Amino acid sequence: MSEQRGIERPRPTIVKAPEGHSGEGFFATRVDQAIGLARANSLWPLPFATSCCGIEFMSTMSSHYDLSRFGMERLSFSPRQSDLLMVMGTIAKKMAPVLRDVYMQMAEPKWVLSMGACACTGGIFDSYSVLQGIDRVIPVDVYIPGCPPRPEQVIDGILRIQELARNESLRRRYSKEYQDLLTKYAID
Ligand code: SF4
Repeated sequence: MSEQRGIERPRPTIVKAPEGHSGEGFFATRVDQAIGLARANSLWPLPFATSCCGIEFMSTMSSHYDLSRFGMERLSFSPRQSDLLMVMGTIAKKMAPVLRDVYMQMAEPKWVLSMGACACTGGIFDSYSVLQGIDRVIPVDVYIPGCPPRPEQVIDGILRIQELARNESLRRRYSKEYQDLLTKYAID
């Protein structure tokens, strides 16, 4: 109907198959690529929203930007059922141990997205009470700049998390580099 009126709607995203061999009635690929594909397209985010960036995230979830296109419509408020921690807003130093507990309760594999100037660096709140960046207490995979970031930037950040989830080795979490990173944050 809308095309009859001359309005072009974007085509739905089609997930690209991983590299592999196909023939009549079969498709073969590597197990890590198949698992990476599944993980990247079924992220369950935990929104840790404390202030205005959280409101911007609400608009990213709503119908206009529609995060469910990425397999992400199911937000989880239970850390044990989430694999993407989205931190948005000003984090007070008092709240830092809570954020850290939430991160530690999430099972591997897990990723962290820091949204907005406040979560990334403390933003304009260079004060005694505000944490000057969540990477002081937990490791961060992707940073989104801005105050607040536009929904397009949030989507870009999520695409980068998907890229990480799709391509990282299944064993990266057991690598010495990752273990060293967790040790740096005093996380077992
Ligand atoms: S970065 Fe800006 S919009 Fe986001 S929480 Fe901080 S002050 Fe609010």
